[in-house]
Amino acid sequence: MIEIIRPGVTAARAKVAIFDFDGTLSVIRSGWTEIMLRMALKELVATGTKESEEELTAVATEFISRLTGKETIYQMMALVEAVQARGGQARTPLQYKREYLEALNGKIHHRLQSLRDGESPKQFMVPGARRILEFLTERGLILYLASGTDDANVKEEAELLRLASFFPKRIFGAQDDLQSFSKALLVQRLISDSKYAGEDLVVFGDGFVEIEEVKLVGGIAIGVATDEPSCQQVDEWKRQRLIRAGADFIVPNFCGILEKSLVVF
Ligand SMILES: [Mg+2]
Repeated sequence: MIEIIRPGVTAARAKVAIFDFDGTLSVIRSGWTEIMLRMALKELVATGTKESEEELTAVATEFISRLTGKETIYQMMALVEAVQARGGQARTPLQYKREYLEALNGKIHHRLQSLRDGESPKQFMVPGARRILEFLTERGLILYLASGTDDANVKEEAELLRLASFFPKRIFGAQDDLQSFSKALLVQRLISDSKYAGEDLVVFGDGFVEIEEVKLVGGIAIGVATDEPSCQQVDEWKRQRLIRAGADFIVPNFCGILEKSLVVF
């Protein structure tokens, strides 16, 4: 299944494909949103605000989803602001990030361990992920992997899913120095190194950020609105968000796009 949001758009001339990692190729970190939301909610409730839990959930959901695709620390900065706006005593963004990652690691460490023990990576990937990478590589596209997850983690997890070889020296994750890498910077560099024009770029992602950055320069965007963890159907909430970010196509996974690749490529 592939939904065409903008008829007539094609990625047939694309030379570079940028992939987001979590929620796009990998579901190792599936469930992160709930963990982040739970932590944010706990901190917001602790400010003693009179807002209801529903209202606070809406507040946290808004900044978490708006910043999905950016480095995790930005969501933590937004949490600091939201706590301070309610008169609360906020910790630093880095402290919040550590607490969040500790909780997330508790959820995913057995997944990572089973992969390290040699378990098949298939169950931790969005269906068709490997085949779309093979397909694009065969067509001569240069593939980049860009993630808001910490650099070392993305690199290890791409290795464990046996996907790293599709992106030789082209895997980029979050750095401590926020100025040194971002998805926006990657797009700008690809274009200002003047090897590529905006319309040479195609992006695959489930985050607002990567879709928006590539659309800004005139590239093609494929929104991956997969219903984690089964990844068989379109998640309507993600779909709406990705369309708002500017997605030209929406897919639940990569099976349909391969079958109907002529529609896109
Ligand atoms: Mg993602």
